[in-house]
Amino acid sequence: MNLSDSFYEHIAQTSDAPMGLEIDRAEGPFIYTTDGNRFVDFISGIAVSSLGHRHPAVIEAIKQQVDRHLHVMVYGEFIQRPQAQYAELLTTQLPASLDRVYFVNSGTEAVEGALKLAKKHTGRHKLVSFHNSYHGDTHGSLSVTGRAVYQNPYKPLLPNVHFLHFNETQKLDSIDDETAAVILEPIQGEGGIIPAQPDWLKKVRARCNEVGALLIFDEIQTGFFRTGSLFAFQQYGVVPDILCLAKAMAGGMPMGAFVSSSEIFESFKYNPPLNHVTTFGGHPVSCAGAYATLSELLEGNFAEKAHVIEQRTKAVLQDENIVEIRGRGAMLGMQLKNESITRNVVEACLKKGILLGWTLHSETLIRLAPPLIIGEELLNETLLAILDIVRKNMS
Ligand code: PMP
Repeated sequence: MNLSDSFYEHIAQTSDAPMGLEIDRAEGPFIYTTDGNRFVDFISGIAVSSLGHRHPAVIEAIKQQVDRHLHVMVYGEFIQRPQAQYAELLTTQLPASLDRVYFVNSGTEAVEGALKLAKKHTGRHKLVSFHNSYHGDTHGSLSVTGRAVYQNPYKPLLPNVHFLHFNETQKLDSIDDETAAVILEPIQGEGGIIPAQPDWLKKVRARCNEVGALLIFDEIQTGFFRTGSLFAFQQYGVVPDILCLAKAMAGGMPMGAFVSSSEIFESFKYNPPLNHVTTFGGHPVSCAGAYATLSELLEGNFAEKAHVIEQRTKAVLQDENIVEIRGRGAMLGMQLKNESITRNVVEACLKKGILLGWTLHSETLIRLAPPLIIGEELLNETLLAILDIVRKNMS
C-alpha cells in the first residue's frame, strides 16, 4: 500500500478535504513534497516555524539532548538540565510576576492548566471568555472557545462560562467577585486576526484587579515575536496573571507552557499534593529545542523582521479586491470578498507553490504568517505572486 492510501484509509481525518501534500522534507521557508515540488511555507505550520524549518541551532540542540537522555521521569520530580535552563532563560525575559513555568506538550494543555490553576488559586469557578475566541479542542479549552458550532456537539461542557464581546466594554461588570479567570487572546487568531484595542485591554485588566479575578492571556499563536515583540502583551503594556504558550516555542518540537507567579503556583502543591501532573510535559528534547529557539530569537533582530513583513505585506497587497490586510507583525490576515474567491485564491497559490490557508472561524480570510526568517527577496516575490493570483481570481 502506498503512503497516500495509508493516509486516507488509516489516519483519522478531521475534514473531507485535507490538503494531502506528501511531505519529503522541509528546510528554512520551504517545504518539499515527494513529487519534487517546492512550496513557500507562508503559514509556518500555523505559527510554529518562526525560525523556519530545521533551524541548525535547534537541530543541533535536539541531537545533543537525544544523546544524553530522553524521558526519565514524570513532571516535576527530577532536576533535568534542559527544563531548568529553559525556565531560567524564559523567565528572565518576562516581568517579575511571571517567574514560574509549568511545562506541557501543547497549546490546549497550557490552557487547561491555566484554567485549573486560576480555579485552585481563587477558589472560584466562574470563567469569562470572548466570542470568536479559540483556545484549543480538549474539553476545558473548548468550554472557553467562543464558537457555538464547535461546542454544540460536545455539550455539556464546563458550567459557568460566560462569553462577552471582544473589544466591547459594556458588559465588563459581569466579571465579578465570583470570577476565577478571564481568558483572551491579545490578538484573536482563529477568529480572524483581530487585535484587542489597547484601551479595552487595560479596562479588562483593571476590572480583573478590582474583583480579584485572574487574567489569562493565550499567547499560543501570538508568542515568540510573531506579532513584532517577544509577546504581544508587551506592546499593550498589560501584564497577565497567567501566560499560555506553545506553537513556536520549541522550533518545531511539541511543547507548551503556562507561566505565572510563584505565589499563584503555590496552590498547585497542596490539597492534595500532585493535583496537576503530566508524564511528558517539559520533555527534555523539546526543552532543548525551546532553549535553542529562544536563544536564536533573542539574538536576531526578529522584532524588526516581523515589522518588515507587516509593512511589505500591507504595501504590496493593495488592490480594490482586497478588503483589508489586518493584524500585526507576521500574524496577518487578508480579507477577501467572499468564500469562493477565497477558496480559489488558496488553491491557485498552492498550484504556484505558495502554501496559504484559512483561519478556523472564517471562510473569507486568508492567513499570512510566513516564517520570520524569510528573506526580503522571497517575501517580495511571494507577495507579488499572491497579488497577481488575487487579481486573476477576482474577475
Ligand atoms: N490557543 C490558540 C490561540 C491557538 O491558536 C491554538 C492552536 N491553533 C491553541 C490554543 C491550541 O493549541 P494546540 O493545537 O497546540 O492544542
